[in-house]
Amino acid sequence: MEYPRRSYWHDTADNKIEAAANKEGLDGKKYDVLIIGAGLTGLTTAYLLKDSGYKIGIIDGTDAGYGVSGYTTAKITVQHEVIYDYLIKNFSLSEAKQYLKANEEGFSLIKKIIADNVIECDYAEQDSYVYATDEDELKQIKDELKAYEELGIDCFYTESVPLPNNAIGAICIRNQGQFNPLKYLYSLYNIVSSSCEIYENVRALNIEPHGDHHVVETESGKINADKVVVTSHYPFDNSFGLYFLRLYQDKSYVVAAKTKEEPFRGMYININDPVYSMRYHFTENENLLILAGGNHRSGKKDNEEDSYRELEEFLNKHFKGAEIVSKWSAQDCMTYDKIPYIGLYSKSVDNLYVATGFKKWGMTHSAAAAIILRNMLLGIEDDFSEIFSPFRITPAQSSKEFFSSIKSISAAFLKRIAPVTDVLGLIGAGEGKIINYDGRKVGVYKNENNDYFCINPVCTHLKCSLSFNEAEKTWDCPCHGSRFDIRGNILEGPAVKPLDKIKIKK
Ligand SMILES: Cc1cc2nc3c(=O)[nH]c(=O)nc-3n(C[C@H](O)[C@H](O)[C@H](O)COP(=O)(O)OP(=O)(O)OC[C@H]3O[C@@H](n4cnc5c(N)ncnc54)[C@H](O)[C@@H]3O)c2cc1C
Repeated sequence: MEYPRRSYWHDTADNKIEAAANKEGLDGKKYDVLIIGAGLTGLTTAYLLKDSGYKIGIIDGTDAGYGVSGYTTAKITVQHEVIYDYLIKNFSLSEAKQYLKANEEGFSLIKKIIADNVIECDYAEQDSYVYATDEDELKQIKDELKAYEELGIDCFYTESVPLPNNAIGAICIRNQGQFNPLKYLYSLYNIVSSSCEIYENVRALNIEPHGDHHVVETESGKINADKVVVTSHYPFDNSFGLYFLRLYQDKSYVVAAKTKEEPFRGMYININDPVYSMRYHFTENENLLILAGGNHRSGKKDNEEDSYRELEEFLNKHFKGAEIVSKWSAQDCMTYDKIPYIGLYSKSVDNLYVATGFKKWGMTHSAAAAIILRNMLLGIEDDFSEIFSPFRITPAQSSKEFFSSIKSISAAFLKRIAPVTDVLGLIGAGEGKIINYDGRKVGVYKNENNDYFCINPVCTHLKCSLSFNEAEKTWDCPCHGSRFDIRGNILEGPAVKPLDKIKIKK
């Protein structure tokens, strides 16, 4: 499959040596555990279960590595912008400790997997910083520092921040890490594939519970499994759990650039918009600045090129003469109370598990999720998983965000009945537009050769109206984040069905 976006990691990680299993024989297969999604969460879960005696199958709707894990900035840290002060104030000190411990365990697991398997993934130890650019951010980081001290985190405050923009102070957690996420993910894939069957380009369509087992319907047939683990980033099955009401997606943009300056050490991010995340990636051949920002809720930006432009302006201003070698964007699932959902998918279905909502901190969270899921499947008790329960009730924390989300989703639904005035002849090369054709709406993309690609511009997930993303030439859903290429093929779920192709006469 052709992917419209590749990250620097896709261009530099070529260590996937094991082939996917042949999907011809998939229909009717039986597994003890079926994992849906071969991103970092799914593969790490499989890694932890590989010696459990379970027969494990893994399916992924695309080629492994083309989920969010292939587009991350790959800071491995328990410092998630500012979170601990919020957790202590809105939950409790003991719940903040659970969140911290789970992520520390996740971080230790990643380091152990790298060491035990001698994985070459450009891993480097780095201090992690949240920096302030104004008084409001400074107050927030000072409150966060107090929370670190209460939690016993190894940290310090500094006003000496080696960034070229106006950082006036920062808090640091020592000895965190960074890596090339795809070199790591492909190594995990190679290790896991010796004991689990991994199928790529097999999308799960739905899950039917049948008492003591589940039947997962896929594009390549039905699979039976005693236990099913959904690590598909956005939980795709709407029959249980109401995740489409409990999650939204937020997008960020990344550029990797060669800079003239001496690279600085450390990984940095500020809190309020505009957010600029920075770290250098060090390899034998080159040192690249990984700059991320331009954050917005998915579907909320009229022109996504503006986000790249903002990053490029920042780069030109603060890193003169920098040369961009790669740029990409991605979105991550966010929960309204800022805590991921890890555990049983629904109260009403046994042996069905989920991990999602990592809010752009999925390196340690994916490994933490793998530990929690392993513990649940094997009946191991731990003292840090409760806070992640998908059944927690936190109205005070989530209501404000939730209602603004409902407003945004309603707006996307309303767009469906908005009049569309464009006509075919007004579509320029490289543009996508929705036109009225024969009494219905049609999404039309015209390429440089004047070929037209026409689709039904309604998301197959929950019928939201799609909008065209000029920057990446994709049809994007503003409600839940599904994305389709110009031919209507799925690039990202939760949608599980492609868009209908439409024939029009020119
Ligand atoms: C721009 C950006 C920067 C980030 N930077 C950081 C960072 O510095 N540090 C950090 O900790 N986190 C970061 N994150 C977050 C982190 O990258 C993600 O949270 C994490 O990679 C999610 O991993 P995952 O395995 O859950 O999902 P994915 O990697 O998306 O894997 C899910 C897999 O499921 C498959 N799938 C989906 N639907 C189906 C289906 N129906 N059937 C079968 N397969 C399916 C997909 O193809 C995919 O391969 C960042 C996120 C973004 C967007």
